[in-house]
Amino acid sequence: MNTRVDGYTRADYGRVTVLHGAERGAYPYGNSLLVKGSDATLVVDPSLSLVEGAPPADLVLVSHAHEDHIAGLGSYDVPVHVHEGDLEALRSPESLVAGFGFAPEEAEEAAAMLRERFHVRGRPDARGFEDGAVFDLGGRTVTVVHLPGHTAGHCGFLVEPDGFLFVADVDLTSFGPYYGDVGSSLAEFEASIGRLREIDARWYGTAHQKGVIEGTGEFRSRLDAYAGVIRRREETLLRFLTEPRTVEEIVEHRLVYRPHVRGRTCGRWSGARPGGTWTS
Ligand SMILES: [Zn+2]
Repeated sequence: MNTRVDGYTRADYGRVTVLHGAERGAYPYGNSLLVKGSDATLVVDPSLSLVEGAPPADLVLVSHAHEDHIAGLGSYDVPVHVHEGDLEALRSPESLVAGFGFAPEEAEEAAAMLRERFHVRGRPDARGFEDGAVFDLGGRTVTVVHLPGHTAGHCGFLVEPDGFLFVADVDLTSFGPYYGDVGSSLAEFEASIGRLREIDARWYGTAHQKGVIEGTGEFRSRLDAYAGVIRRREETLLRFLTEPRTVEEIVEHRLVYRPHVRGRTCGRWSGARPGGTWTS
């Protein structure tokens, strides 16, 4: 049974509780996880909906250092862990903003937005983990699955024995994969999608509005459709390149974002992400 509490909605999958954020977890909101073992409880990706009324936990895992995944981190004065590849961005907001690759004035605006709208504060105490790290909660383990591409340190988490795989921002939306940061990599994103195809789980939880997918077959077909967006973007680009174009013309053609989305800064905050409605 779902219970609405302080901006998030709880739903149980085995002993894993998904804290669905406001607006079904669409950006700037997101979905968080609450995982309880006999010895310890952890939270994954405390979202904007956990700024108030966050459930207690002994530690926090962060799938990657993006603002929508850490907005509720201030609710947790406990150890926080993230992959080595995103550690500096979690420790310092300046590093996080630098990773967006903005021009100086845009970077300043982004830094203010992170601070004021997403409550982002540096966590110099954050600790790094690597692929395969296991967090033993007592009768329940959470294993790190490194899935780079979206960011260098982007990770999923496999909860066992429940069979719940959190896939974070491999979010299966019709927008498709996002790889627009300095540390992003399309090739790594594709390799991560390939890795995910091979992992059998009962549930696959995304960080955003597609929520939780049940069953490997259903997950794989949605993953294939999601990966197909990359191919569509490439086909569009190749069609556009039937005559010589400058980089500026290619940028202006809006291969990834819809034409009405202006600029990368605005795009990030006001609609570039699927379902994004945040306006400043
Ligand atoms: Zn992200």
